[in-house]
Formats: sequence, C-alpha cells, structure tokens
Amino acid sequence: MLYFDNAATTKPDPRVVSKINEYLTTYYGNPSSSHSLGRMSCDAVEEARLNCALTIGCTPNEILFTSGATESNNLAIKSCGNMCRKCGEESRHFIFSGIEHKSVSKIAHYLEDLGHEVSLANTNEDGRIDLDDVLELIRPNTVMLSCIWINNETGILQPIEELAEICEANDIIFHVDATQAFGKWKINLNKIPKIDMMSFSGHKFYGPKGIGGLYINEGLELECLIEGGSQEGGKRAGTENVPGIVGMGKAAEILLEEREMDYDKMAELEEEFENFLKEKGVSYEINGSPQYKVPWIFNINLEIDGDELIEKLDEDVCISKSSACSKDFIPSHVLKAMGKTDDEVKNSVRISFSKYTTKDDVEELTERIEKAVK
Ligand code: PMP
Repeated sequence: MLYFDNAATTKPDPRVVSKINEYLTTYYGNPSSSHSLGRMSCDAVEEARLNCALTIGCTPNEILFTSGATESNNLAIKSCGNMCRKCGEESRHFIFSGIEHKSVSKIAHYLEDLGHEVSLANTNEDGRIDLDDVLELIRPNTVMLSCIWINNETGILQPIEELAEICEANDIIFHVDATQAFGKWKINLNKIPKIDMMSFSGHKFYGPKGIGGLYINEGLELECLIEGGSQEGGKRAGTENVPGIVGMGKAAEILLEEREMDYDKMAELEEEFENFLKEKGVSYEINGSPQYKVPWIFNINLEIDGDELIEKLDEDVCISKSSACSKDFIPSHVLKAMGKTDDEVKNSVRISFSKYTTKDDVEELTERIEKAVK
C-alpha cells in the first residue's frame, strides 16, 4: 500500500509505539496518585511537556495537553470570546484567515452568537494571507487574530512573523494553528515578536492520534472550558492521557534530533517527484507559490477530475482530494479563497510525503498518475 494522503504523515514512529506500550502496560499509574507508580507517570508526562517545549522554544509550564488541535483551537478562541463577553457588553472583533481548518473557521458562529464579529482576511494567489487586508481589517475593538502556520491543503507557509509584528503593534492576541508545522518546521518562539497561543496535534509529527497541545504564553490567562479536577494546573480537568502524552513527547524528542535530516529527505523527494512528472510528460500546476511551499505537501492540478484520478489509481495508492468532502462536489474553501475556479478545484488533488516515503514510491506514484491521466 502506498500512502500519499495525510495517513502518510500520521503513521507513528516505531519508537513512539514502544513508548506508548510501556505506559499502557507497565507504567500505568495515574499521574495524580502519590505512590511510586503514579509518580512515574507524572514524571513521564513532565518529560513529554519538556520535549514539546524544547521543540518550539518555550518553557514547559507554557504547554497544556489537550485531545488534539481541534480542542486546542476551540479552547484558544472560545475562551477568548467568553472572557471578552464577561468583561462587558461591548462586542469584540476577531480576524481569521480565509484558509483555516474547520476547527477554527467554524468557531466564527460561536463568536457571533456571543455578539462578537468575525472578519475573514483575503488570501492571495500564492496561497498566503493578504497582509494589507489584515491591516485594513483591524479596528479599535479587534481582540484576536487567528492564522494557520502551514496550510493543510496546500502546504503553503503563512507570513507568521509579519502577522506577529502586526499583532504586537496593535495589541491583538495572536493565535496560530501550527498543526502542520509543529515538530517538522523549525519554530523558535523566542525569535518571533508575539505569538500568544499555538495549537498542535501528535499525529501530525509521527506521534499518536487523539493527543495534542496548546502553547499559552505565560502572561496570558485563559478561561477553562473543561471543569473538574486540578489536572493541567486546573486549566483542563480530567485524568491525563498518559500513553498519548508520552508518545507525543517521544515523537517531539525524535524530531528534535532528526527534523533536519527528514526535511532534507523530503526536499529531495519533492524534486524527484517533479522530475518524474516532467520526464513522463504529465502536465501539472502546483496550487500556491512553490516559493512558500513545504516539501511534504503538494496540491496539484493534473488536468483530470480529482475523483476520477483517485479511482483510477486503484486501492493500493492513496492520495486525497484537497478537501474532505462528500460524494457531492464541495469545492475546497482554501483553493476557492486563492481564486481558483470550480474546474481548477475539481482537478486538484493533495499528495503528501512522509519520512517513510521512498524514491521508488514516488516513481511508482508518478507512473500510476501518468497511466491514469493518459
Ligand atoms: N488544524 C489543522 C491545520 C489540521 O490539519 C488538523 C488535522 N487535519 C487539525 C487542525 C485538527 O487536528 P485534530 O484532528 O488532531 O484535532
């Protein structure tokens, strides 16, 4: 089976799997218990927190564990909306990019129900948020900006440093959905003017599913959405998912050592993929500017209906459409925001590489694409 869809990047590293097994079977204590088994779990959770913090250049107490990026995004944005509501009657203004994952974009309704307003900033044809539009959208009551770091459909890097500067200058809370960046892209929060909150998810960097986190800048107070015990410093109640947390921590630790090597490998695969396509005479167009694209995600227009291509590739080669959609054609909001026509969106597919992908896999994929297209 050749996986070039998101599953390619979400297969846990074997070292992660053995760590998870240890904490499922041998060290199964509850981190809140004071006996030795509990203390072992607690220490392992704190080691994982340290590794996640080292990955992005923050302190461990700024990392909150959650069930994944969906929860982190909800917590960051809803909490801000709720707190503003409690501060007074005044409506506040939120800005999102127009290319956010649904776990951000759908929160707009929640904020609007609270009486706040949400604006979506324009996206340019490079696939990047339009900085001039962001500046124009800012009002005296703008309280938060939320932007994805690497878009999950196109692999396009967003101008996070520039947005951080804008937020700092205008005293706006800056939330970043770094789900596709954390672990794989070099992030050093010490070098960025202002990021207040940042979401991440274990299964996007070879860790387990159903676990993630939220970086919360030390100076920022968040409203707790899940009430109960005093876990996670009282910010998120409920017994910790210890196997998930230690597995994600192990994945972060591995990438601290291997990220650059993995990156170089994927940059080679990216070049090889394009060379194979050219050699075989398959015409293609990358959606978004290659200048800002990470090497492990391709969103390409192959001049064949995406669904038809997926069908023709047989069951053993998995690629995906640019958006998760039903049988009916629902155009990708990301490609639409970039100005793509319905036909261009229909003919686009997303292909992802992982550290497990080989040159032979890429060659085979290209051969299958060539056969399907011709
Ligand atoms: N944000 C982005 C950019 C994503 O790619 C994903 C996962 N596809 C999520 C949020 C949600 O992550 P999870 O399913 O782990 O909650």
